[in-house]
Amino acid sequence: MTARIIDGKTYAEGLRARIAGHVERLKREHGVTPGLAVVIVGHDPGSEIYVSQKAKLTVEVGMHSEKYELPEDASEAEVLALVRNLNDDPDIHGILVQLPLPRQIDPNKVIATISPDKDVDCFTPASVGKLQIGLPGPVSCTPLGCLMLLRDTLGSLEGLNAVVVGRSNLVGKPMAQLLLRENCTVTIAHSRTKDLASVVRGADIVVAAVGRPLMIKGDWIKPGATVIDVGINRIPALERGEGKTRLVGDVDYQSAAAVAGAITPVPGGVGPMTIACLLANTVTTASLINGLVPPEDLTP
Ligand code: NDP
Repeated sequence: MTARIIDGKTYAEGLRARIAGHVERLKREHGVTPGLAVVIVGHDPGSEIYVSQKAKLTVEVGMHSEKYELPEDASEAEVLALVRNLNDDPDIHGILVQLPLPRQIDPNKVIATISPDKDVDCFTPASVGKLQIGLPGPVSCTPLGCLMLLRDTLGSLEGLNAVVVGRSNLVGKPMAQLLLRENCTVTIAHSRTKDLASVVRGADIVVAAVGRPLMIKGDWIKPGATVIDVGINRIPALERGEGKTRLVGDVDYQSAAAVAGAITPVPGGVGPMTIACLLANTVTTASLINGLVPPEDLTP
């Protein structure tokens, strides 16, 4: 079998077009322009690229975008004061503080200061609790993107065995929660799981969020299973020359694609969905803050 490739890049483009339509309607019918503020502290080159891309796509879908750049030696008090100002700013409906933060700043304190109403990353305890019990609100961006791709590929997920490899607060746990809401039978695997290969072999859906290049092999995959590879790992690519690197996922794509029914590539699978879902969450929070029902196609 050769797996169908799940094209996250194309899906994300379509999703952003739909988001632009929702933004236009919010403006026209309710006078609301969704606004996203991104805060970056210091000069991490990876974060800077990511933040610029977020700002560009925010503007492209018609939203209001604000970017705050604080110096590497900014104090925790300064960052907390900025977040509080943004909490009170009526033009802002989503606040994203780019992680990692310099070591003098406690990320947990910063996250706890973000208003849950504007928590588009779904990091605050209140947002996590809402996700857990199924109340409306923002949903962790990467898991939401994975869920959209799974629904698009499989339709109903009901009754399927899903194995999520990884239990981080960012990806693994919210992913498992969303799959449970879809009526999957969910297993969460992690670094202490015994015989991971046989656990993965039982899965109709595998979501890999580990951070270990090419760890999940083709002979771990049940024939016909759907594989979502969240991992982004940079490895040496000697075939491209000395010092060159390439991006790979947590799944050994070549061997897995020969067995799976459908699989996301890296890059071009889950990655583009994460930013698109950040924008989707900003539409959701802008709607809720203004007493409106968020668009159904942007929420789980
Ligand atoms: P974390 O490091 O926070 O979590 C990794 C998880 O993998 C942990 O739960 C850990 O288990 C588990 N794990 C580690 N080694 C093994 C192993 N040998 N067998 C089984 N489980 C193992 O990572 P994140 O969840 O933040 O990210 C995971 C990957 O996804 C990374 O490559 C990251 O770059 C990528 N990512 C991609 C995004 C995208 O937009 N595509 C967005 C976010 C992340 P334990 O808890 O026991 O330590």
